[in-house]
Amino acid sequence: MILVSSCLAGLEVRYNGTHCLDKKIRQMIEKKQAITVCPELLGGFSTPREPAEIVGGNGEDVLDGKAKVIGKSGKDVTIMYIKGAYSTLIKAQEVGATIVILKEFSPSCGSSMIYNGEFKGKKIVGNGVTTALLERNGIQVVSEERITDFLEEN
Ligand code: SF4
Repeated sequence: MILVSSCLAGLEVRYNGTHCLDKKIRQMIEKKQAITVCPELLGGFSTPREPAEIVGGNGEDVLDGKAKVIGKSGKDVTIMYIKGAYSTLIKAQEVGATIVILKEFSPSCGSSMIYNGEFKGKKIVGNGVTTALLERNGIQVVSEERITDFLEEN
């Protein structure tokens, strides 16, 4: 079984109440090859919610206590992001997922690039909190931007 970001499957769970449907992901859901997960909802957030970015590093740094996840208003929401990451890991382990396809650029789900913590739309190399935790536990995280390559390889 493959876990995929809920927003990629068309569910309106992003911070601003939108989705970012990827038709290939939707097909995987319809064929029952994949199920959805949204780490931020599992962490206790609702939709819509304040946007947040990692300040001071990436997801690895958040797990190590060296960086924080901060809402645009300045609220520290690190704990909820870590909770969402662990809940996603538990779900992945429960369904036996060894591959997870997550939305790029998110402070939870990013796997190659994330926003830099200034809320100015600038991206830096780095991963999100959930991605970091999944990879530490041997689960492969694939960006939706690589979905075509991934499907050809598998
Ligand atoms: Fe949820 Fe991840 Fe999509 Fe954000 S990017 S809405 S945390 S599934």
